[in-house]
Amino acid sequence: MSAFEEMEEDGVIWQNGEFVDWENATTHVLTHGLHYGTGVFEGVRAYDTERGTAIFRWDDHLDRFYQSGKPYDLEIPFDRETLTDATVGVLRRNELESAYIRPIAFYGYHQLGVSPGECPVDVAIAAWPWGAYLGEEALEEGIDVMISSWRKHASSQIPTNAKTTGLYVNSLLAGEEARRNGYAEAIVLNKEGNVAEGPGENLFMVRDGEIFTPGLSESILDGITRDTVITLAEERGYTVHDNVTISRGELNTADELFFTGSAAEVTPIRKVDNVVIGEGTRGPVTEELQSAFFEVVERRTDDHDEWFDYVA
Ligand code: PMP
Repeated sequence: MSAFEEMEEDGVIWQNGEFVDWENATTHVLTHGLHYGTGVFEGVRAYDTERGTAIFRWDDHLDRFYQSGKPYDLEIPFDRETLTDATVGVLRRNELESAYIRPIAFYGYHQLGVSPGECPVDVAIAAWPWGAYLGEEALEEGIDVMISSWRKHASSQIPTNAKTTGLYVNSLLAGEEARRNGYAEAIVLNKEGNVAEGPGENLFMVRDGEIFTPGLSESILDGITRDTVITLAEERGYTVHDNVTISRGELNTADELFFTGSAAEVTPIRKVDNVVIGEGTRGPVTEELQSAFFEVVERRTDDHDEWFDYVA
């Protein structure tokens, strides 16, 4: 199943402490989070490896999940062990060898003032098979992207380092605008007009053999794949500038550009607004880091075993 295909109603979803059949994992139409976007979520991948199914950087995703709730006083009423057991349970019960895992916590049904008051925090974890987010071909050939006319919300307007459901209306606007115009994805500038990130991806630039990615104060999500790629690049001797401002014009003259994300993994970018980037194909640095990434997540190396939780 790709990101753009219909869900299959299959298996179980963990909801507030129980495994329920897929079609029964529902919520009331007057749920607070549905009206005001008051939820936080994660997107995690589990890979099919020689040592069984392995969840990638689960601890880091859990950290971000709990932290995302903080600005909203949204306290997730389950501990790490419970959420981990729930996830392993979902993968096992649904017999998933590889999967995209979606934990979500949101203000539930109680009252509908904007203040959540006594609304409960509902939590669910679902998992399903998801192939390459932007398509298999995208991983090899790269994608064409457009600079969105929509700006990213500034971190002075809303915490952009929290993975909040409501923030994704901006991602929808940017992504759909790009697709309406024949592009696969968007690049979103921040309020200052500098490069922030994709609708659901962080962005990297390669220039003169060095690697650049916008800093955390540029209104980006602190991506776990971003951190992974920075680590893998530094281990391979690259200089990584991970706290920079990248202007729009610098994109055109970059040697290589690529996106990172749990869903998008490492996806090369071959054109921005129809300007060819580098040779217009996956560049050598992108290819090296992409191979390193897949070698690690598919456990074809022993490196970074600390990033994996195995589902026996
Ligand atoms: N930015 C945004 C806005 C995202 O939604 C995501 C996906 N979670 C990312 C960046 C990449 O983050 P990660 O590598 O942790 O998936």
